[in-house]
Amino acid sequence: MMATTHVGFLSFGSFLPLPSRISFSKRRTFAMAALSDDPIREWILSEGKATHITKICPVGGGCINLASRYGTDAGSFFVKTNRSIGPSMFEGEALGLGAMYETRTIRAPRPFKVGALPTGGSYIIMEFIEFGSSRGNQSVFGKKLAEMHKAGKSSKGFGFDVDNTIGSTPQINKWTSNWIEFYAEHRLGYQLKLALDQYGDSTIYQRGHRLMKNLAPLFEGVNVEPCLLHGDLWSGNISSDKNGEPVILDPACYYGHNEAEFGMSWCAGFGGSFYNSYFEVMPKQPGFEKRRDLYMLYHYLNHYNLFGSGYRSSALSIIDDYLRMLKV
Ligand code: ADP
Repeated sequence: MMATTHVGFLSFGSFLPLPSRISFSKRRTFAMAALSDDPIREWILSEGKATHITKICPVGGGCINLASRYGTDAGSFFVKTNRSIGPSMFEGEALGLGAMYETRTIRAPRPFKVGALPTGGSYIIMEFIEFGSSRGNQSVFGKKLAEMHKAGKSSKGFGFDVDNTIGSTPQINKWTSNWIEFYAEHRLGYQLKLALDQYGDSTIYQRGHRLMKNLAPLFEGVNVEPCLLHGDLWSGNISSDKNGEPVILDPACYYGHNEAEFGMSWCAGFGGSFYNSYFEVMPKQPGFEKRRDLYMLYHYLNHYNLFGSGYRSSALSIIDDYLRMLKV
């Protein structure tokens, strides 16, 4: 993968502020004079169409990266940096944000630039969103999320063009034509192997594998289409802008069964009005309730791998319940 990626499929337009009053050539001269070995400033002062950066403020609330707001005479930019990880993590995030943005359904920040930092590590520059005070209207949120699932189609099957991360765990997105195979191998199987490798947990590994091989009855009568998923939809990644429009952030996108989007619902606070409007756009499929825990299992396993044994019993009891239900 290239060290620096310009997210070129997104042309400037509706979201970037109007060009400043200074002509392009003068701006360029000014920008060049201010260039340093700081690629973030460099981009903002050239392609970002700013002539000066007025303020850089830290933004709290993230789990993994350092976040900042760059105030400029051409509007604000949101920048995340990571001092130790190369650009591939942010490339995955930019491709996901770009795919969600391109559906023109639910609001997601528009990604502008990803690159390597000269001191090591990487950065992503994206549209700055002014958040509102409320969590937004649940019913509008359900409708818009369903519209994204409906609009985001894939002709390559289930997966994504790049692997990304779920929390800080790698998430494998190898294109696969069969959903059950994809979910078993690249979601459950990957996490079970991690649990075996890092904790030596052969109990969860073996029982999980038994479940992986017996998923088909849970999908009887269901036609699974690949839909664009945010992939990590919990309350920390859901907000609303200053007009009350729902916004989703920090995705782990891939094309998958739409129901898998509710795998983090134990941390998302989706209510009845959310689901009602969701199902008006994306009708509920037979057996939805039967699969709910299956989709949570991936995220419980990931929490087990990331945060330790507190999540083991939740994951194992989901596996055991399914083994009992499926009589395998
Ligand atoms: P991390 O990658 O560390 O988990 P997040 O993507 O969650 O970081 O971002 C950290 C915080 O920055 C979020 O909680 C949110 O409040 C804020 N934020 C994220 N994206 C934007 C954006 N595009 N514009 C403004 N603020 C943002």
